[in-house]
Amino acid sequence: MRIAIIGGGISGLSAAFYLEQERAKGAPVEYALFESKDRLGGVLFSDMVGDCVVEGGPDSFISEKPWATELCEELGIAGDLIGSNDSQRVTYILVKGRLVPMPDGLMFMVPTKLIPTALTPLFSWATKFKMLGELMHPPSPVGKDETVAQMVERHFGPEVVDRLADPLLSGVYGGDASSLSVRAVLPKFVEMEENYGSLCRAMLAGRKKMAAMQKAKGYTPKPLFSSLKGGMQELIDALVPRLTQEWIRLNTSIQSLRPKENGWELITPQGAEHFDGVIFATPARIASTMLAQTNQQLSEDLGQVQYSSSITCTLGYKRDDLKMCKPGFGFLVPRSEGTRMLATTYVHTKFPFRAPDDKALVRCFLGGAKDQSVLQKSDEEVLAIVRSELKQITGLTAEPWFVKIYRWDRAMAQYTPGHLERIARIGETLADMRTLAIAGNFYKGIGVPDCVRTGKEAALHMAVLAREAGK
Ligand SMILES: Cc1cc2nc3c(=O)[nH]c(=O)nc-3n(C[C@H](O)[C@H](O)[C@H](O)COP(=O)(O)OP(=O)(O)OC[C@H]3O[C@@H](n4cnc5c(N)ncnc54)[C@H](O)[C@@H]3O)c2cc1C
Repeated sequence: MRIAIIGGGISGLSAAFYLEQERAKGAPVEYALFESKDRLGGVLFSDMVGDCVVEGGPDSFISEKPWATELCEELGIAGDLIGSNDSQRVTYILVKGRLVPMPDGLMFMVPTKLIPTALTPLFSWATKFKMLGELMHPPSPVGKDETVAQMVERHFGPEVVDRLADPLLSGVYGGDASSLSVRAVLPKFVEMEENYGSLCRAMLAGRKKMAAMQKAKGYTPKPLFSSLKGGMQELIDALVPRLTQEWIRLNTSIQSLRPKENGWELITPQGAEHFDGVIFATPARIASTMLAQTNQQLSEDLGQVQYSSSITCTLGYKRDDLKMCKPGFGFLVPRSEGTRMLATTYVHTKFPFRAPDDKALVRCFLGGAKDQSVLQKSDEEVLAIVRSELKQITGLTAEPWFVKIYRWDRAMAQYTPGHLERIARIGETLADMRTLAIAGNFYKGIGVPDCVRTGKEAALHMAVLAREAGK
């Protein structure tokens, strides 16, 4: 069975890798991997500047989700996995121009410790009283989907949306709390509300259970984030040599495909080519266009997935230049502060492997769902914004010894209300069109581990079909 994989980001590469594995186990599969650009990896890209590792896109992945770690193990690079330096994990929020540390006991945006919550200047007294009252929130049955902002505001008030929900979600989704679906993005919150009513009580109960489990099993907690010593690019560099090189087609943008008897006809720049199965690992809008003539509902559902764009700007400094910066992983900036910067990471603290002891890396994020226009700015303008806002927020004025700016156009899928229903419909349609599969960050999770998972699932599905067909 011949499979076309369209898209050579981590989702498409994972699909190719697991197809190779299935082939090695005897599944009669071959594939061609089509990538429109001249390099593989998609938004996953690291650069070296001197002895510093600069991440263009993702800098790490959540350790709790196993699929990226498992892939590293299968590629033989698990020894290079590093954890975030959690002993120094302090994240600040900019509040009225001042950097305020997130209080102890805050779990995502839910307070679980009374005294640090009472003492923090992050929230007004009105919000603190609302948090106390939240403990009485009655359990609610599953209602219709709502945004994260609506749910958080119901429980804790608008200040928590502005100061926590929005900045935290713009870090993960490049999106804002008022347009992301709570059921798609924070399904645990929905479950907690159903079972406990109060998110605070649910978190406290969860923490108790977890503490008991950890005690019973002698379990050591994983670092929150994992990455690779050489940067996330190491994953791509280890994966690509494991593929059949003559099946990789760079600089090959697929424009359309047609269903044919027993498969699909892909229109490649070299002409029409027959495949028995197709795995889409492109952004949803690309798959939507290509499937418009094949299945209108599927194409519409895919076309409704919106994306946000972002810029990462990394500045290299001498470590001594950053003496005025507060120690920790960095800071998040609520929109209400009026800056364009959404977040800044002190990379050398979060992942000490990224820079030698005398160097510092400061990575700033701009863009997101509410500031797409920043993508139109020149590099000089972006740098001027970043340096001026860093000066205003932290007092940092030193001249960076290097600057790297990366633009990611419509790269982050937005899980808006109705997303889960759309994805369920897509799943149902695919169940009827078995030779078509989908992977990517709009499907079952935005992060690298979920992209690996969707690529793997698509590959295993095709391997089953190949075994059934015996060809
Ligand atoms: C700035 C940024 C920071 C992030 N940080 C993190 C993080 O810290 N941790 C985390 O887990 N996740 C993070 N993410 C999310 C995660 O990196 C992405 O969701 C994931 O890498 C997406 O992989 P993908 O393969 O699905 O898509 P992509 O990487 O977008 O790959 C899709 C590929 O398809 C190709 N393509 C498109 N059209 C065609 C066509 N017609 N024919 C052939 N090829 C085509 C594209 O060129 C591209 O290479 C971040 C994302 C961004 C943008």
